[in-house]
Amino acid sequence: MSDPVRVRFAPSPTGHLHIGGARTAIYNWAFARRHGGTFVLRIDDTDAERSTPENTAAILSALRWLGLDWDEGPEADGGHGPYFQTQRAASYARALERLKTADAVYPCFCSAEELTASREAARATGTFAGYPRSCRAIDADAATTRIASGEPHTWRLKVPEGRGDVVFEDAVRGTSTFAADVLDDYIVIRSDGTPTYNFATVVDDAEMEITHIIRGDDHLSNTPRQILAYEALGAPLPTFAHLSMIWGPDGKRLSKRHGAANVEDYRDAGYLPEALVNYLALLGWSLDDKTTIIDAPTLVANFSLDRVSKNPAVFDAEKLEWMNGVYLRDMTAEEFVDRMAPVLSDAGLLAEEDAPERREWLCELAPLVSERVKRLDEIAPMVTFLFADTVTIDEAARAKVIEKEGADVALEAIANVLEALDDFTPEAVETALRSVPEATGVKPKLVFQAARVAVSGSTVSLPLFESLALLGKERSVARVRDAIGENHT
Ligand code: GLU
Repeated sequence: MSDPVRVRFAPSPTGHLHIGGARTAIYNWAFARRHGGTFVLRIDDTDAERSTPENTAAILSALRWLGLDWDEGPEADGGHGPYFQTQRAASYARALERLKTADAVYPCFCSAEELTASREAARATGTFAGYPRSCRAIDADAATTRIASGEPHTWRLKVPEGRGDVVFEDAVRGTSTFAADVLDDYIVIRSDGTPTYNFATVVDDAEMEITHIIRGDDHLSNTPRQILAYEALGAPLPTFAHLSMIWGPDGKRLSKRHGAANVEDYRDAGYLPEALVNYLALLGWSLDDKTTIIDAPTLVANFSLDRVSKNPAVFDAEKLEWMNGVYLRDMTAEEFVDRMAPVLSDAGLLAEEDAPERREWLCELAPLVSERVKRLDEIAPMVTFLFADTVTIDEAARAKVIEKEGADVALEAIANVLEALDDFTPEAVETALRSVPEATGVKPKLVFQAARVAVSGSTVSLPLFESLALLGKERSVARVRDAIGENHT
């Protein structure tokens, strides 16, 4: 690529960062990194009613969490700012002046009622329902006088006579053609002086020297209008790449109706940013026909627009969860502890300041847990019994195990053999427990179940011998003794 690549992600802070937006951001970021280019973050906050600073903050924090660092944008000045559209009024005013000088715009004095009436008339007769260009015929002097007298007006872009169809090469969709007769003289500046999306976007993208516009194909129909604005401004055209939508399993565009739709919903549900990036990167792009686990460096080294699919991708929550599990399982104990410690501290199980001194213990726990969870939010319920002072035995487990004939005898023997151990390793615990069936005549299954329920409170938990070792001799024995006699109460 000859020119340095400059791409942008331009979210509107009318909500938080949703999954579709995150994928667009990932593709822009990966494309910039792949070509040693610049990733610009621009906040399209022109919708004053729906844009909020909280939404902007949430978007920045979600992007950071995903690891998508931007080179220019809020909190990263790169000489092309400001990076908030509401702070760029001077640019839009300058651009309007340029268009006036080039005779590429004209003021429109039509009222909303007049516009509605002409649209309805056109619809009724089946003719073009776009702006009928009534004000284009007003001569310049008359228009100047009306403006000077304070008459409300918008500014419309003059589609050049005989412009012909707008045709462009989309880097994903190939040649895209928009018929000339559906291009109307659209409004670039509203009567309150603010720019419309199509105009602001082009002014900004041109000033920010954006070379590739990678965005959702919900913007495809805006592209011919934007191309006309580039032409009117005399600015070089960027390459457009429109990404197909992400669908829910029902074939409808992914939205809140399908459940979690924002990036932070996934963060809060215990997903890892690297797994989410991996999953979303593959939702419309592929490395080859088979690779499913691709870390960020591999993505960056290989990302290209020509492997982006034209077809809609279907969001598969189960596959994402599976992938998250793969990332969790593939971590070293140290890496897993780094993720687990904050979860434990959020759950009130382990104070943050205690984590370093219990690191070795946490590293022993790590492989037991990482193999059994697909999401970080599954960790706390699974390990609570190792942190609590005492456990409450759940009703079903009590009825099924502790109240069984022979359970008390087994528990008594378990407490005794454990108490006699000097070395409380999983192996020693195992040997001790395996001696109990023979010594007591209680079936091994009940012995192990009784031990498990007594120490963890439930019939499902982490592996027994390791759990006891992690819990330590004192607490293990105390819990087993506490469980004795529970069937008599
Ligand atoms: N602010 C627009 C959006 O969030 C940006 C569209 C574009 O990339 O041009 O949809």
